[in-house]
Amino acid sequence: MPNLNFHPSGRHFLQIPGPSPVPDRILRAISYPTIDHRGPEFGALGRQVLAGIRKIFKTDQPVIIYPASGTGAWEAALSNTLSPGDNVLMFETGHFATLWKKMAESLGIKPEFLGQPGIEGWRRGVQADRIEARLRADPQHLIKAVCVVHNETSTGVTSNIAAVRKAIDAAGHPALLLVDTISGLASADYQHDAWGVDVTVSGSQKGLMLPPGLSFNAISAKAINASKSAKLPRSFWDWTEIIEMNKTGYWPYTPSTNLLYGLAEALDMIFEEGLENVFSRHQRLAEACRRAVRAWGLEIQCADPAVYSPVLTGVMMPDGIDADAVRRTIYERFDMSLGAGLGKMKGRMFRIGHLGDCNDLTLMATLAGCEMGLKLSGVPVKASGVSAAMDYLASHTVPLVVKAAA
Ligand SMILES: *Cc1c(COP(=O)(O)O)cnc(C)c1O
Repeated sequence: MPNLNFHPSGRHFLQIPGPSPVPDRILRAISYPTIDHRGPEFGALGRQVLAGIRKIFKTDQPVIIYPASGTGAWEAALSNTLSPGDNVLMFETGHFATLWKKMAESLGIKPEFLGQPGIEGWRRGVQADRIEARLRADPQHLIKAVCVVHNETSTGVTSNIAAVRKAIDAAGHPALLLVDTISGLASADYQHDAWGVDVTVSGSQKGLMLPPGLSFNAISAKAINASKSAKLPRSFWDWTEIIEMNKTGYWPYTPSTNLLYGLAEALDMIFEEGLENVFSRHQRLAEACRRAVRAWGLEIQCADPAVYSPVLTGVMMPDGIDADAVRRTIYERFDMSLGAGLGKMKGRMFRIGHLGDCNDLTLMATLAGCEMGLKLSGVPVKASGVSAAMDYLASHTVPLVVKAAA
Protein backbone atom coordinates (compact mmCIF):
# COMPACT_ATOMS: atom_id res chain seq x y z
CA MET A 1 0.00 0.00 0.00
CA PRO A 2 1.19 3.55 -0.66
CA ASN A 3 1.11 5.72 2.43
CA LEU A 4 -2.50 6.92 2.51
CA ASN A 5 -2.31 7.83 6.18
CA PHE A 6 -1.03 11.31 5.48
CA HIS A 7 -4.21 12.95 6.70
CA PRO A 8 -4.26 14.46 10.16
CA SER A 9 -7.08 13.80 12.62
CA GLY A 10 -10.64 13.92 11.34
CA ARG A 11 -11.90 12.92 7.92
CA HIS A 12 -10.51 14.20 4.68
CA PHE A 13 -13.13 16.35 2.91
CA LEU A 14 -13.46 14.97 -0.61
CA GLN A 15 -15.61 17.75 -2.08
CA ILE A 16 -14.75 17.25 -5.73
CA PRO A 17 -17.67 16.44 -8.04
CA GLY A 18 -16.70 12.81 -8.27
CA PRO A 19 -15.40 10.55 -7.00
CA SER A 20 -17.68 11.50 -4.13
CA PRO A 21 -17.24 10.18 -0.57
CA VAL A 22 -18.20 6.53 -0.20
CA PRO A 23 -20.47 5.94 2.83
CA ASP A 24 -19.28 3.41 5.42
CA ARG A 25 -22.29 1.21 4.67
CA ILE A 26 -21.14 0.81 1.08
CA LEU A 27 -17.49 0.29 2.04
CA ARG A 28 -18.56 -2.51 4.37
CA ALA A 29 -20.67 -4.14 1.66
CA ILE A 30 -17.72 -4.02 -0.74
CA SER A 31 -15.57 -5.84 1.82
CA TYR A 32 -17.70 -9.04 1.74
CA PRO A 33 -15.84 -12.06 0.39
CA THR A 34 -15.73 -12.37 -3.39
CA ILE A 35 -17.94 -15.22 -4.64
CA ASP A 36 -17.97 -17.42 -7.75
CA HIS A 37 -19.37 -15.28 -10.56
CA ARG A 38 -20.78 -18.44 -12.16
CA GLY A 39 -22.06 -19.90 -8.89
CA PRO A 40 -25.65 -20.13 -7.67
CA GLU A 41 -25.60 -17.05 -5.37
CA PHE A 42 -24.28 -14.71 -8.02
CA GLY A 43 -27.39 -14.78 -10.24
CA ALA A 44 -29.55 -13.37 -7.45
CA LEU A 45 -27.10 -10.48 -6.88
CA GLY A 46 -26.91 -9.82 -10.64
CA ARG A 47 -30.68 -9.80 -11.06
CA GLN A 48 -31.12 -7.54 -8.03
CA VAL A 49 -28.70 -4.84 -9.21
CA LEU A 50 -29.86 -5.03 -12.83
CA ALA A 51 -33.49 -4.50 -11.72
CA GLY A 52 -32.60 -1.79 -9.21
CA ILE A 53 -30.44 0.29 -11.53
CA ARG A 54 -33.29 0.52 -14.06
CA LYS A 55 -35.35 2.39 -11.48
CA ILE A 56 -32.56 4.94 -11.12
CA PHE A 57 -32.48 5.51 -14.91
CA LYS A 58 -36.32 5.43 -14.90
CA THR A 59 -36.36 2.81 -17.63
CA ASP A 60 -38.01 -0.55 -18.30
CA GLN A 61 -35.36 -1.35 -20.89
CA PRO A 62 -31.97 -3.04 -20.43
CA VAL A 63 -29.17 -1.34 -18.54
CA ILE A 64 -25.67 -2.67 -19.17
CA ILE A 65 -23.17 -2.58 -16.29
CA TYR A 66 -19.51 -2.52 -17.33
CA PRO A 67 -16.48 -3.04 -15.08
CA ALA A 68 -15.00 0.21 -16.41
CA SER A 69 -14.86 3.93 -15.71
CA GLY A 70 -17.35 6.26 -17.37
CA THR A 71 -15.06 6.75 -20.34
CA GLY A 72 -15.52 3.08 -21.22
CA ALA A 73 -19.30 3.48 -21.25
CA TRP A 74 -18.89 6.53 -23.55
CA GLU A 75 -17.03 4.32 -26.01
CA ALA A 76 -19.63 1.57 -25.63
CA ALA A 77 -22.45 3.99 -26.49
CA LEU A 78 -20.71 5.15 -29.67
CA SER A 79 -19.29 1.83 -30.83
CA ASN A 80 -22.54 -0.10 -30.44
CA THR A 81 -24.66 2.33 -32.44
CA LEU A 82 -22.46 3.94 -35.12
CA SER A 83 -20.32 3.09 -38.14
CA PRO A 84 -17.00 4.54 -39.33
CA GLY A 85 -17.51 7.90 -41.04
CA ASP A 86 -20.95 8.52 -39.50
CA ASN A 87 -21.83 12.15 -38.86
CA VAL A 88 -22.89 13.03 -35.34
CA LEU A 89 -23.95 16.30 -33.76
CA MET A 90 -22.40 17.19 -30.40
CA PHE A 91 -22.75 20.30 -28.23
CA GLU A 92 -19.90 22.11 -26.52
CA THR A 93 -21.10 22.58 -22.95
CA GLY A 94 -17.67 22.15 -21.38
CA HIS A 95 -14.64 19.94 -20.87
CA PHE A 96 -16.45 16.60 -20.76
CA ALA A 97 -18.43 17.33 -23.93
CA THR A 98 -15.07 18.19 -25.53
CA LEU A 99 -13.49 14.91 -24.40
CA TRP A 100 -16.42 12.87 -25.73
CA LYS A 101 -16.06 14.64 -29.07
CA LYS A 102 -12.32 13.82 -29.16
CA MET A 103 -13.16 10.20 -28.48
CA ALA A 104 -15.67 10.20 -31.36
CA GLU A 105 -12.95 11.53 -33.67
CA SER A 106 -10.46 8.90 -32.56
CA LEU A 107 -13.03 6.18 -33.24
CA GLY A 108 -13.45 7.38 -36.82
CA ILE A 109 -16.79 9.15 -36.39
CA LYS A 110 -17.28 12.68 -37.73
CA PRO A 111 -18.57 14.93 -34.98
CA GLU A 112 -19.86 18.41 -35.68
CA PHE A 113 -19.46 20.54 -32.56
CA LEU A 114 -22.10 23.20 -31.94
CA GLY A 115 -21.17 25.81 -29.39
CA GLN A 116 -20.36 29.42 -28.65
CA PRO A 117 -17.03 31.24 -28.82
CA GLY A 118 -14.79 31.63 -25.77
CA ILE A 119 -16.20 30.51 -22.46
CA GLU A 120 -19.76 31.73 -23.12
CA GLY A 121 -20.97 28.25 -24.06
CA TRP A 122 -19.32 26.89 -20.93
CA ARG A 123 -21.68 28.98 -18.80
CA ARG A 124 -24.95 27.77 -20.29
CA GLY A 125 -26.72 24.58 -21.23
CA VAL A 126 -27.37 22.90 -24.56
CA GLN A 127 -29.30 25.18 -26.94
CA ALA A 128 -32.00 22.84 -28.21
CA ASP A 129 -33.20 25.34 -30.84
CA ARG A 130 -29.79 25.21 -32.52
CA ILE A 131 -29.91 21.41 -32.61
CA GLU A 132 -33.36 21.62 -34.19
CA ALA A 133 -32.18 24.12 -36.81
CA ARG A 134 -29.16 21.97 -37.67
CA LEU A 135 -31.25 18.82 -38.02
CA ARG A 136 -33.77 20.65 -40.23
CA ALA A 137 -30.84 21.49 -42.51
CA ASP A 138 -30.12 17.77 -42.92
CA PRO A 139 -32.99 16.50 -45.11
CA GLN A 140 -30.94 13.47 -46.19
CA HIS A 141 -30.56 12.38 -42.56
CA LEU A 142 -26.78 12.11 -42.74
CA ILE A 143 -26.55 12.90 -39.02
CA LYS A 144 -26.87 9.58 -37.22
CA ALA A 145 -26.82 10.71 -33.60
CA VAL A 146 -27.09 13.74 -31.33
CA CYS A 147 -24.74 13.47 -28.31
CA VAL A 148 -25.11 15.75 -25.31
CA VAL A 149 -23.90 15.92 -21.73
CA HIS A 150 -26.72 16.19 -19.17
CA ASN A 151 -24.74 17.37 -16.14
CA GLU A 152 -21.55 19.07 -17.35
CA THR A 153 -19.24 18.40 -14.42
CA SER A 154 -16.61 20.89 -15.56
CA THR A 155 -18.97 23.84 -15.20
CA GLY A 156 -21.98 23.00 -13.01
CA VAL A 157 -24.61 23.24 -15.73
CA THR A 158 -27.45 20.71 -16.11
CA SER A 159 -28.97 20.77 -19.60
CA ASN A 160 -32.62 20.15 -20.43
CA ILE A 161 -32.66 16.75 -22.12
CA ALA A 162 -36.42 16.69 -22.68
CA ALA A 163 -35.97 19.86 -24.77
CA VAL A 164 -33.32 18.14 -26.91
CA ARG A 165 -35.72 15.24 -27.52
CA LYS A 166 -38.43 17.73 -28.52
CA ALA A 167 -36.03 19.46 -30.89
CA ILE A 168 -35.17 16.19 -32.65
CA ASP A 169 -38.86 15.30 -32.96
CA ALA A 170 -39.81 18.80 -34.14
CA ALA A 171 -37.25 18.47 -36.93
CA GLY A 172 -38.75 15.07 -37.81
CA HIS A 173 -35.22 13.65 -37.73
CA PRO A 174 -34.42 9.96 -37.03
CA ALA A 175 -31.04 10.60 -35.30
CA LEU A 176 -30.40 8.66 -32.12
CA LEU A 177 -30.15 10.62 -28.86
CA LEU A 178 -27.06 9.73 -26.79
CA VAL A 179 -26.72 11.36 -23.37
CA ASP A 180 -23.90 11.43 -20.80
CA THR A 181 -25.28 11.69 -17.27
CA ILE A 182 -22.17 10.26 -15.64
CA SER A 183 -22.29 12.88 -12.89
CA GLY A 184 -26.04 13.55 -12.94
CA LEU A 185 -27.46 10.12 -12.24
CA ALA A 186 -28.97 9.64 -8.77
CA SER A 187 -28.40 13.32 -7.95
CA ALA A 188 -30.43 15.16 -10.61
CA ASP A 189 -33.74 13.89 -11.97
CA TYR A 190 -33.19 11.77 -15.06
CA GLN A 191 -35.81 9.96 -17.17
CA HIS A 192 -34.35 7.65 -19.80
CA ASP A 193 -37.72 6.39 -21.10
CA ALA A 194 -39.89 9.49 -20.71
CA TRP A 195 -37.27 11.71 -22.37
CA GLY A 196 -36.88 9.27 -25.26
CA VAL A 197 -33.13 8.81 -24.83
CA ASP A 198 -31.57 6.02 -26.91
CA VAL A 199 -28.36 5.49 -24.95
CA THR A 200 -27.68 6.97 -21.52
CA VAL A 201 -24.13 6.76 -20.22
CA SER A 202 -23.33 6.89 -16.51
CA GLY A 203 -20.75 5.93 -13.90
CA SER A 204 -20.51 4.71 -10.31
CA GLN A 205 -18.33 7.26 -8.52
CA LYS A 206 -20.59 10.30 -8.52
CA GLY A 207 -24.24 10.32 -7.42
CA LEU A 208 -24.26 6.58 -6.81
CA MET A 209 -21.66 7.07 -4.02
CA LEU A 210 -19.55 4.08 -5.13
CA PRO A 211 -15.83 4.00 -5.82
CA PRO A 212 -14.81 4.40 -9.47
CA GLY A 213 -14.96 1.23 -11.56
CA LEU A 214 -18.51 0.64 -12.77
CA SER A 215 -20.23 2.35 -15.67
CA PHE A 216 -23.55 2.01 -17.44
CA ASN A 217 -25.38 2.11 -20.75
CA ALA A 218 -29.17 2.38 -20.54
CA ILE A 219 -30.48 1.58 -24.01
CA SER A 220 -33.68 1.86 -26.05
CA ALA A 221 -35.18 -0.62 -28.51
CA LYS A 222 -34.17 1.80 -31.29
CA ALA A 223 -30.55 1.71 -30.06
CA ILE A 224 -30.55 -2.08 -29.97
CA ASN A 225 -31.87 -2.05 -33.50
CA ALA A 226 -29.14 0.36 -34.60
CA SER A 227 -26.51 -1.90 -33.01
CA LYS A 228 -27.45 -4.67 -35.45
CA SER A 229 -26.11 -2.71 -38.40
CA ALA A 230 -23.49 -0.53 -36.63
CA LYS A 231 -20.04 -1.29 -38.05
CA LEU A 232 -17.58 0.26 -35.58
CA PRO A 233 -15.30 -2.50 -34.28
CA ARG A 234 -16.24 -3.64 -30.79
CA SER A 235 -15.90 -6.78 -28.75
CA PHE A 236 -15.67 -6.12 -25.00
CA TRP A 237 -18.28 -3.35 -25.29
CA ASP A 238 -20.73 -5.32 -27.45
CA TRP A 239 -24.20 -5.31 -25.90
CA THR A 240 -25.58 -8.49 -27.49
CA GLU A 241 -24.02 -11.20 -25.38
CA ILE A 242 -24.18 -9.16 -22.18
CA ILE A 243 -27.94 -8.57 -22.57
CA GLU A 244 -28.46 -12.27 -23.24
CA MET A 245 -26.51 -13.43 -20.18
CA ASN A 246 -27.89 -10.67 -17.93
CA LYS A 247 -31.34 -12.26 -18.30
CA THR A 248 -30.29 -14.79 -15.66
CA GLY A 249 -28.12 -12.33 -13.68
CA TYR A 250 -24.74 -13.36 -15.12
CA TRP A 251 -22.09 -11.78 -17.38
CA PRO A 252 -20.04 -13.18 -20.30
CA TYR A 253 -16.82 -12.32 -18.38
CA THR A 254 -15.89 -11.76 -14.72
CA PRO A 255 -17.91 -8.80 -13.48
CA SER A 256 -16.70 -6.56 -10.67
CA THR A 257 -18.30 -8.66 -7.93
CA ASN A 258 -17.38 -6.48 -4.96
CA LEU A 259 -18.45 -3.25 -6.64
CA LEU A 260 -21.78 -4.95 -7.40
CA TYR A 261 -22.18 -5.61 -3.64
CA GLY A 262 -21.57 -1.91 -3.22
CA LEU A 263 -24.12 -1.10 -5.92
CA ALA A 264 -26.76 -3.26 -4.21
CA GLU A 265 -26.12 -1.35 -0.97
CA ALA A 266 -26.19 2.05 -2.71
CA LEU A 267 -29.53 1.19 -4.33
CA ASP A 268 -30.93 0.17 -0.92
CA MET A 269 -29.80 3.49 0.56
CA ILE A 270 -31.29 5.53 -2.29
CA PHE A 271 -34.63 3.70 -2.22
CA GLU A 272 -34.82 3.95 1.59
CA GLU A 273 -34.47 7.73 1.33
CA GLY A 274 -36.65 7.84 -1.79
CA LEU A 275 -35.25 8.83 -5.18
CA GLU A 276 -37.27 12.06 -5.32
CA ASN A 277 -36.11 12.96 -1.78
CA VAL A 278 -32.53 12.41 -2.91
CA PHE A 279 -33.11 14.90 -5.74
CA SER A 280 -34.67 17.55 -3.47
CA ARG A 281 -31.84 17.13 -0.94
CA HIS A 282 -29.38 17.91 -3.74
CA GLN A 283 -31.41 20.93 -4.91
CA ARG A 284 -31.57 22.35 -1.41
CA LEU A 285 -27.84 21.95 -0.70
CA ALA A 286 -26.99 23.42 -4.11
CA GLU A 287 -29.14 26.49 -3.41
CA ALA A 288 -27.44 26.98 -0.03
CA CYS A 289 -24.05 26.73 -1.74
CA ARG A 290 -24.99 29.31 -4.38
CA ARG A 291 -26.16 31.70 -1.65
CA ALA A 292 -22.74 31.40 -0.05
CA VAL A 293 -20.99 32.19 -3.34
CA ARG A 294 -23.19 35.24 -3.91
CA ALA A 295 -22.61 36.48 -0.35
CA TRP A 296 -18.85 36.23 -0.92
CA GLY A 297 -19.43 38.48 -3.93
CA LEU A 298 -18.07 35.89 -6.36
CA GLU A 299 -19.57 34.77 -9.64
CA ILE A 300 -21.21 31.40 -10.19
CA GLN A 301 -19.87 29.75 -13.34
CA CYS A 302 -23.35 28.81 -14.58
CA ALA A 303 -24.88 32.01 -15.95
CA ASP A 304 -28.43 30.68 -16.43
CA PRO A 305 -30.40 29.98 -13.22
CA ALA A 306 -32.71 27.62 -15.16
CA VAL A 307 -29.83 25.15 -15.54
CA TYR A 308 -27.98 25.39 -12.22
CA SER A 309 -26.55 21.99 -11.36
CA PRO A 310 -27.71 20.31 -8.13
CA VAL A 311 -24.44 18.30 -8.19
CA LEU A 312 -21.74 20.96 -8.03
CA THR A 313 -21.20 24.70 -8.10
CA GLY A 314 -18.46 26.34 -10.16
CA VAL A 315 -16.98 29.41 -8.43
CA MET A 316 -15.18 31.92 -10.66
CA MET A 317 -12.21 33.82 -9.27
CA PRO A 318 -11.74 37.58 -9.70
CA ASP A 319 -9.12 38.60 -12.29
CA GLY A 320 -5.58 38.11 -11.07
CA ILE A 321 -6.43 35.29 -8.64
CA ASP A 322 -5.15 31.81 -9.45
CA ALA A 323 -7.94 29.39 -8.51
CA ASP A 324 -5.46 26.52 -8.25
CA ALA A 325 -3.45 28.43 -5.64
CA VAL A 326 -6.65 28.93 -3.61
CA ARG A 327 -7.42 25.21 -3.89
CA ARG A 328 -3.90 24.34 -2.77
CA THR A 329 -4.20 26.57 0.32
CA ILE A 330 -7.52 24.95 1.21
CA TYR A 331 -6.05 21.48 0.73
CA GLU A 332 -2.96 22.15 2.79
CA ARG A 333 -4.64 24.07 5.60
CA PHE A 334 -7.99 22.30 5.90
CA ASP A 335 -7.48 18.86 4.35
CA MET A 336 -10.21 19.44 1.77
CA SER A 337 -10.09 18.63 -1.96
CA LEU A 338 -12.05 20.87 -4.33
CA GLY A 339 -12.47 20.41 -8.09
CA ALA A 340 -10.05 22.25 -10.39
CA GLY A 341 -11.01 24.37 -13.36
CA LEU A 342 -10.69 22.14 -16.45
CA GLY A 343 -9.81 22.96 -20.05
CA LYS A 344 -10.75 26.56 -20.87
CA MET A 345 -11.47 27.23 -17.18
CA LYS A 346 -8.10 26.07 -15.85
CA GLY A 347 -6.96 28.34 -13.02
CA ARG A 348 -10.03 30.56 -13.39
CA MET A 349 -12.46 28.73 -11.14
CA PHE A 350 -12.85 25.95 -8.63
CA ARG A 351 -15.71 23.52 -8.22
CA ILE A 352 -17.51 22.61 -5.00
CA GLY A 353 -19.08 19.15 -5.10
CA HIS A 354 -22.29 18.67 -3.05
CA LEU A 355 -23.38 15.30 -4.32
CA GLY A 356 -24.02 11.83 -3.04
CA ASP A 357 -23.39 11.27 0.65
CA CYS A 358 -23.77 14.94 1.61
CA ASN A 359 -25.90 16.64 4.28
CA ASP A 360 -26.34 20.10 5.82
CA LEU A 361 -23.27 19.88 8.02
CA THR A 362 -21.09 18.37 5.29
CA LEU A 363 -21.93 21.38 3.16
CA MET A 364 -21.45 23.86 6.02
CA ALA A 365 -18.01 22.49 6.84
CA THR A 366 -17.13 22.62 3.15
CA LEU A 367 -18.23 26.24 2.87
CA ALA A 368 -16.34 27.14 6.06
CA GLY A 369 -13.17 25.66 4.53
CA CYS A 370 -13.76 27.63 1.34
CA GLU A 371 -14.41 30.90 3.17
CA MET A 372 -11.30 30.58 5.35
CA GLY A 373 -9.24 29.58 2.31
CA LEU A 374 -10.50 32.49 0.21
CA LYS A 375 -9.55 34.96 2.93
CA LEU A 376 -6.13 33.37 3.45
CA SER A 377 -5.57 33.60 -0.30
CA GLY A 378 -6.33 37.31 -0.34
CA VAL A 379 -9.57 37.00 -2.30
CA PRO A 380 -11.75 39.96 -1.36
CA VAL A 381 -14.81 38.40 0.27
CA LYS A 382 -17.81 40.74 0.66
CA ALA A 383 -19.76 38.97 3.39
CA SER A 384 -19.97 35.61 5.09
CA GLY A 385 -21.16 32.95 2.69
CA VAL A 386 -21.25 30.56 5.62
CA SER A 387 -23.88 32.73 7.35
CA ALA A 388 -25.91 33.09 4.15
CA ALA A 389 -25.95 29.32 3.66
CA MET A 390 -26.83 28.67 7.31
CA ASP A 391 -29.72 31.13 7.11
CA TYR A 392 -31.07 29.38 4.04
CA LEU A 393 -30.74 25.86 5.46
CA ALA A 394 -32.26 26.86 8.82
CA SER A 395 -35.26 28.53 7.19
CA HIS A 396 -35.81 25.82 4.57
CA THR A 397 -36.02 22.79 6.76
CA VAL A 398 -37.00 19.37 5.58
CA PRO A 399 -37.85 16.46 7.83
CA LEU A 400 -34.71 14.40 8.16
CA VAL A 401 -35.22 11.00 6.62
CA VAL A 402 -34.02 9.03 9.62
CA LYS A 403 -35.29 5.47 9.61
CA ALA A 404 -37.02 4.57 12.87
CA ALA A 405 -35.72 1.34 14.33
CA ALA A 406 -37.94 -1.51 13.24
C1 LIG B 1 -16.57 11.93 -14.59
C2 LIG B 1 -17.16 12.22 -15.92
C3 LIG B 1 -16.72 11.57 -17.09
C4 LIG B 1 -15.55 10.63 -17.10
O1 LIG B 1 -15.80 9.47 -16.39
P1 LIG B 1 -14.57 8.57 -15.90
O2 LIG B 1 -15.23 7.67 -14.89
O3 LIG B 1 -13.57 9.51 -15.30
O4 LIG B 1 -14.06 7.84 -17.07
C5 LIG B 1 -17.36 11.87 -18.28
N1 LIG B 1 -18.38 12.74 -18.33
C6 LIG B 1 -18.81 13.39 -17.24
C7 LIG B 1 -19.94 14.37 -17.37
C8 LIG B 1 -18.22 13.15 -16.00
O5 LIG B 1 -18.64 13.81 -14.92
